Amino acid sequence: MSEVVSVADRGDIAVVTIDSPPVNAINQALRAGLKRVFSELAGRTGIKAVVLCCAGKTFVAGADIKEFDTGIGLPGYHEVYRLIEDSKVPVIAAVHGTALGGGTELALACHYRVAQESARFGLPELSLGIIPGAGGTQRLPRLMPLEPALDMMLSGKPVSAAKAREQGLVDLVCAGDPIEAAIAYARELIDQGRGPRRSRDQPVRGAEHAGELLSAKRTQVARTMKNRNSPVALIDAVQAAVELPFAQGIKVEAAKSDELPQAIESRALRHLFFAEREVRRIPGLSSAIKPRNIERVGIVGAGTMGGGISMCFANAGIPVTLLDTAQDNLDRGLATIVKNYQRSVSRGSLAQEQVDQRLALIKTSLDYAAFADADLVIEAVFESMALKRDIFARLDAAVRPGAILATNTSTLDIDEIAAVTRRPQDVVGLHFFSPANVMPLLEIVQTRSTSSEVLMTALETAKRIRKTGVVAKVCYGFIGNRMMDPYGREAERCVLEGATPEQVDGALESFGMAMGILAVYDLAGIDIGYKTREARRHLLPKDPSFYRPTAMLTERGWLGQKTGRGYYRYDGGKRTPDSEVVAMLAQEASRLGVPQRRPGAEEIVERCLYAMINEGALLLEQGIALRASDIDVVYTSGYGFPRYRGGPMFYADSVGLKKIYQRILDFQRELDPQYWTPAPLLEKLAMSGSSFAQWQATQSRQAS
Ligand code: NAD
Repeated sequence: MSEVVSVADRGDIAVVTIDSPPVNAINQALRAGLKRVFSELAGRTGIKAVVLCCAGKTFVAGADIKEFDTGIGLPGYHEVYRLIEDSKVPVIAAVHGTALGGGTELALACHYRVAQESARFGLPELSLGIIPGAGGTQRLPRLMPLEPALDMMLSGKPVSAAKAREQGLVDLVCAGDPIEAAIAYARELIDQGRGPRRSRDQPVRGAEHAGELLSAKRTQVARTMKNRNSPVALIDAVQAAVELPFAQGIKVEAAKSDELPQAIESRALRHLFFAEREVRRIPGLSSAIKPRNIERVGIVGAGTMGGGISMCFANAGIPVTLLDTAQDNLDRGLATIVKNYQRSVSRGSLAQEQVDQRLALIKTSLDYAAFADADLVIEAVFESMALKRDIFARLDAAVRPGAILATNTSTLDIDEIAAVTRRPQDVVGLHFFSPANVMPLLEIVQTRSTSSEVLMTALETAKRIRKTGVVAKVCYGFIGNRMMDPYGREAERCVLEGATPEQVDGALESFGMAMGILAVYDLAGIDIGYKTREARRHLLPKDPSFYRPTAMLTERGWLGQKTGRGYYRYDGGKRTPDSEVVAMLAQEASRLGVPQRRPGAEEIVERCLYAMINEGALLLEQGIALRASDIDVVYTSGYGFPRYRGGPMFYADSVGLKKIYQRILDFQRELDPQYWTPAPLLEKLAMSGSSFAQWQATQSRQAS
């Protein structure tokens, strides 16, 4: 068996190679290998320098995150990295690919760093709710100035080799083989008699302005990463690097770092890390099923969604034909696409040349004949069953057999849409989120007839256009919008009970939602939800207070940002409270006899979220969502639910299902009982002291 870490001599230079496919992630075996090799090297004479490199496609790209649950096996990171740093001869890291997390920290423990041009260095630990705990917070600010060092750790974004060189993290950037370049560099060091240059012995760069900078970063973190503990721990550790000698600073880092993995924040983020991989595993969908080829795409409707969806495909290099009813609509749609791309150019995220290439992939047409050679057509016209059925009948006639027909409907019954075609097995829901070119979520809605091959193609297509595809079954609103309904219902009821829109939104935003729901309604257009409800009024509760605030605003033509007024006023685009709306709501509440409870922040959050979670439990029982963790992925990637709380179902588990169940019973007594019946699954799990996670584990054991 080949060793994970091996040594080969190149004259008086020892080349240490890590070889642990696929990405050389650090685990116990790799640390043990490094310890063995560097201990041996310490005892050898005749070796004048060591080059540390990796086999395969990348330098060490992270650590084995399962070790958070099992505990870090010995030897630990500090022991091994200290041993490397202690080396009496210079150690040069030769970096290619992406050095991430523990990999970047390994490079920092070496004395010099040589990087291939395309190499990148990143410390993304905060995205898992932890901090670089293998010396990263102490060594990085000794190599590069404090501010970019902090930014690199706070943003988690990798920096290029060129940037790393500019900032002092890298000593040499090479175009060719980094191992040969590192050996040549080692030779130079030997010839010049330069020995080890230990990061721990360097002063922190920019320590003189540290006080001001750290306090500015603390303020920034409190605003942009609120409710999170790992960014605060990170800044504390960096402050220790500034104020204390290395040996003490590293102890502070260890103390901070050790307590983070058990905190809810890190558990939530790790849960999502695995949940986002799990979504592609569909019980009963054999990996032997081959997806169909998608080389050309048609899109019906050049509005908000159709335009954004076109961009998704063009961005992935897939040609698109966009169809609408009139040339004006096509021109308007295309102009919006151009404007969106232009924004990326002015922000510097895309070059004009790339934009030109992408725009060249988008054609327009008024004629269904343009879809003759399409492999997939996505419909994104107004949310109307009659219209969608009409369009699907036309598509069925115009598009070649075997091509997939998809709808972007937010709420409608896709089985009913598919029924007008002669190919219901080739019909699927592809539910994008607005703005479609930005939002990472794609709900893939499987009808009663959607074939396995089409489902597999939809999952593959999601991957190609870099979306997280989550499979749902057909019901009103699928996973996301169906759970939004009770959430919004409670928010609207709270304003009728005397909480102001700012209080409701403020409570939800303090909890961590990206935006309060009433502000979201204003942004999306208040009339959208209203129209959807009107279309299915016969199915809704006969409760005059049900979604009444939105109905009132719609009746007045106060449709949100697009009309300058909604739950709030928009003067010059700025959102401000509207006392007239508050007065209007109070008057309506009195007319309807709604008691003025004036719910506080805690009650608002409990009512909105527990109503949503209860609906989530129903979705699981009904098999609309496959897994509790799928719901968490939908909510964190499509609905602004805070990742550090893990999604609604993980959050429910962290609160405790018994407590949620009890509160739902309280609300059943105190509020309108028709809305507060605990879902049988929630009741069962609460009574047996179980959780959604345990339920999911049992389900998946039974399925396999
Ligand atoms: P939109 O009003 O912005 O665009 C609809 C487009 O369809 C218009 O350009 C219109 O001219 C065109 N159209 C209408 N009838 C047509 C026909 N017979 N043939 C061809 N084109 C026709 O609407 P939107 O916001 O893009 O929504 C489209 C669909 O996407 C709806 O089903 C909606 O529920 C869904 N959706 C919307 C959002 C959102 O946030 N806007 C999010 C997810 C899903």
